[in-house]
Amino acid sequence: MHEPSGPLAAQHRAEDAIVQTAYSAFIQHTVACTSCRTEGMDCGDAGELRQAYRAAKERAKQAG
Ligand SMILES: [Zn+2]
Repeated sequence: MHEPSGPLAAQHRAEDAIVQTAYSAFIQHTVACTSCRTEGMDCGDAGELRQAYRAAKERAKQAG
């Protein structure tokens, strides 16, 4: 097995978890939010969640 270990791998997994959390928060919002569903566009909350997801993804990319 080649399970990565050490502080760098742990850091990478932490960043991944942040990205996943931010992504599912965004998805869960768009599923639950009426204006996101009916208008097919991001409402204010969805925009913030999407930005948080993008920022987390950028950070993970730079860290990885
Ligand atoms: Zn919404």
